Amino acid sequence: VSHAGVALEARHLVKDFRGFRATNDVSLQIHEGEIHAIIGPNGAGKTTLFNLLSGFLRPTSGEVHLFGQRVDQLRPFEIVRRGLSRSFQISSVFPSMTVRQNVLVALQSPTTLPHQFWTPLARLESLGEQADQILEDVGLGTAHARLAADLSHGEKRQLEIGISLTQHPKVLLLDEPTSGMGSEGVARVIALVRQVARGRTVVLVEHNMSVVAELADRITVLQYGAVLASGQYEEVRHDPRVIEAYLGE
Ligand code: ADP
Repeated sequence: VSHAGVALEARHLVKDFRGFRATNDVSLQIHEGEIHAIIGPNGAGKTTLFNLLSGFLRPTSGEVHLFGQRVDQLRPFEIVRRGLSRSFQISSVFPSMTVRQNVLVALQSPTTLPHQFWTPLARLESLGEQADQILEDVGLGTAHARLAADLSHGEKRQLEIGISLTQHPKVLLLDEPTSGMGSEGVARVIALVRQVARGRTVVLVEHNMSVVAELADRITVLQYGAVLASGQYEEVRHDPRVIEAYLGE
């Protein structure tokens, strides 16, 4: 079987929670270099699918393949090392540290520096340069010295994305990057996702359909834990089943 062009693949994924099937035979392919949005009503199983794809949950059955290699039995950090990283939740940001210190800590995590218990000074300096570059990339260059606790909601999401970039992901999973944001924040996140998607594959869960319309090359629509439709955004958008189930307003 050839995996050319496929970054991430789910094969017949099933996840049961005490008899409740949250993920029901989900198969999908995320193409290398695309921005792929996973959409669907509340309770459709989007978060569960994300957790399965990133190794935070083990499937009841089925498989996850990353660049052609099976990863569903690996632990999350092992999957990170193979090139997949998800945006961290707010709780992974240290509020009493500065923005730059947060990125530095993430750069020194065991997944990034697997064989070093301590960090030589020269290495620390190069980490500093990497941190500054990442902060620049996520639009926090001028905010580097601020305490993470003092960031706005939108800036915290930018920092979370910066923290996941420290792991050099080839595939980046973003869980509702625009949640709780006003239109200005949403516009900033759209620009940011475009920026981080350069040379990367991005998978995002997103409720805001105008964000999906702006960003997504392809989308997968979930309903009751199963794939209702998957494909080019423009095609799926006009699929009568999708319009009936979700988009019909
Ligand atoms: P979405 O992200 O699309 O809103 P979720 O993946 O969070 O959907 O949830 C899908 C379904 O699975 C929901 O009905 C939810 O109640 C259920 N579910 C999710 N996680 C668990 C869990 N740990 N235990 C039991 N049920 C769960």
